[in-house]
Amino acid sequence: MDKEPCTLQEAIIYFSQPVNCRNHVVARRWKSGVTCPICGSTKVKLSEKHNRWQCGSHHARRQFTVKTGTIFEDSPLGLDKWLTAVWMITNDKNGISSYEVARALGVTQKTAWFMLHRIRKAMQLEPFMKLTGEIEVDETFIGGKARNMHIAQRERRITGTGTKDKVAVMGILERGGQVRTSVVENRRKAALQAEVKKHVEAGSSLYSDELKSYDGLAGDYAHQVINHAVAYVDGKVHTNGLENFWSLLKRGIHGTYVSVEPFHLFRYLDEQSFRYNNRKDMNDAERFSLAVSQIVGKRLTYKELIGKAAMEKQKHFFN
Ligand SMILES: [Zn+2]
Repeated sequence: MDKEPCTLQEAIIYFSQPVNCRNHVVARRWKSGVTCPICGSTKVKLSEKHNRWQCGSHHARRQFTVKTGTIFEDSPLGLDKWLTAVWMITNDKNGISSYEVARALGVTQKTAWFMLHRIRKAMQLEPFMKLTGEIEVDETFIGGKARNMHIAQRERRITGTGTKDKVAVMGILERGGQVRTSVVENRRKAALQAEVKKHVEAGSSLYSDELKSYDGLAGDYAHQVINHAVAYVDGKVHTNGLENFWSLLKRGIHGTYVSVEPFHLFRYLDEQSFRYNNRKDMNDAERFSLAVSQIVGKRLTYKELIGKAAMEKQKHFFN
């Protein structure tokens, strides 16, 4: 099969050929020809037999593969498995668990879990423009322990049904456009307003609920408040777009993912935001290509991924 794949089934067949894997990644990684990842030279020579290039300049680490400097670096797994996993995670609306990936690829669940986290890193948004127009802001809580908390605190079990051990997540949505999500320390004014100013162009229309933390934004934005005790929608004043996003996110986290260690929560936010932001005007192959084009410079080691302190506890939060 020479044609680039359009479906998961075609992708599995297509990427079973190593040369297809290489060509596919090369076309997205080096859009104007292969260059040496160390010195940038274009004088590089491919050895078909070894599936690697050698740079013509004299320096250390002259040999490189298509995986060098990407999220796939140092992985003994073939690109056939990697690219199939990328396809699965970028296109499954509700997300996909490491159990499903393990079964589909014939790898252990631990390996699949690590693969998915590396791929989520490639799905991270690199925002270069602020949101503008009609903007909804809202927060939600995801049960669990916060990332960056002191280790002793992090090890506490989740207690009760209140919000004190839950992680606050803030969402900012441009209607008809993109969503930005972040884990916030709390729902106080300083934390929430800093996010608004970071992501929203001054002069935009801002819609929130009656949370006091948003008071004082009227100087920079046309801020209107919906009092949820009275109504959920008052003309344009509502946060229904974000409510929909939260339900998608929670369906993924509580359904497919079984449970999510809050230490990793931001990666699941990145994953869900990627699919949400690229849901329109893009087919499966294009979403896949976009993720593959973002694989460079995003290495993630096992140690970094799970954190030193969490290493021995890893089996408790695989999901
Ligand atoms: Zn070089």
